[in-house]
Amino acid sequence: MAKVTTVLGPIDTSKLGFTLSHEHVLTSSACFRHVYPEMLDRDLAIKAAVRLLGEAKKEGLNSIIDCTPMDLDRDAALLEEVSRKSGVNIVCATGSHLYIPRTFYETMFPWMKPMSPDRVADLWVREVEVGIEGTGVKAGIIKVSTNDPIRPPEELMLRAAARTHLRTGLLITTHTPMRSRVGLEQLRILKAEGVDLTKVYVGHVNSTLEADYHKRMADQGAWLGMDHFHPAGAPGTETWEERTEFIAGLIKDGYGGQIMLSHDWNVGFHARRHPPAADGEKDTHPDGYAWIGRAVLPKLRKLGVSERDVKKLMVDNPRRYFDGAGK
Ligand SMILES: [Zn+2]
Repeated sequence: MAKVTTVLGPIDTSKLGFTLSHEHVLTSSACFRHVYPEMLDRDLAIKAAVRLLGEAKKEGLNSIIDCTPMDLDRDAALLEEVSRKSGVNIVCATGSHLYIPRTFYETMFPWMKPMSPDRVADLWVREVEVGIEGTGVKAGIIKVSTNDPIRPPEELMLRAAARTHLRTGLLITTHTPMRSRVGLEQLRILKAEGVDLTKVYVGHVNSTLEADYHKRMADQGAWLGMDHFHPAGAPGTETWEERTEFIAGLIKDGYGGQIMLSHDWNVGFHARRHPPAADGEKDTHPDGYAWIGRAVLPKLRKLGVSERDVKKLMVDNPRRYFDGAGK
């Protein structure tokens, strides 16, 4: 039986159930919670996450993949507590987002050389095999992010992710920018490193609605992360309804076996110590982690997507993705 590492330890992949493939519990910047503790209330964040995950759980949610690496201020102990209190499985990430520690790549003086991908992988493998920051919580997925075009430090991270994968068998999940086809370039580099592309999930690809792009990635075996879903959406980009119609089209074309859905949301709004209302902010995502179940899935059904295909997106595909983990 294949296993997946959650923040509470390994579970059988059959226990994943209804899974959101790219979420966050809480994100900020590396060290933010230590330097400016007055800005984010950790207890409020835990309370909000437990409440909102609990609400979604009542409607079927069972697991989330939390794609928050250290440069988004990952807090492994917080994830552990939220998982325990909410009853939702959380898989947490090693790797990096776009705020790559400069120590990895700085070359300001002639004696400075970028770190090798293998040296970075040593650090990430420790988070997989030993644990994160002394908590004993182990990473269950490798996150890696790039801009478009891919910058040299980002390529270093991609290669480090590949080597961490080859050494641990953990799967890779990526961030791509909106309106970009850089997922193909990410796959090219990972493949050159020897990664079997069925082990790679390319994230945020429903922020680029060009079916030939998605099909070229899926035809190489990669998973398609349709994980930018927000009721209000980013200004100037396709609405959630348009994104949903696009997914229904891909399913009709036979790609339903390689698609996963998620919000890419976090509870940061609920954890601000300064009252958000004072800044004129409004919660534009009141349904939190339950929103896809409440809005996107009913819309897919209305578009003629079968119950079997809906189950594929939310249950079978995440399980099959993790069944592919291993060296
Ligand atoms: Zn994200």
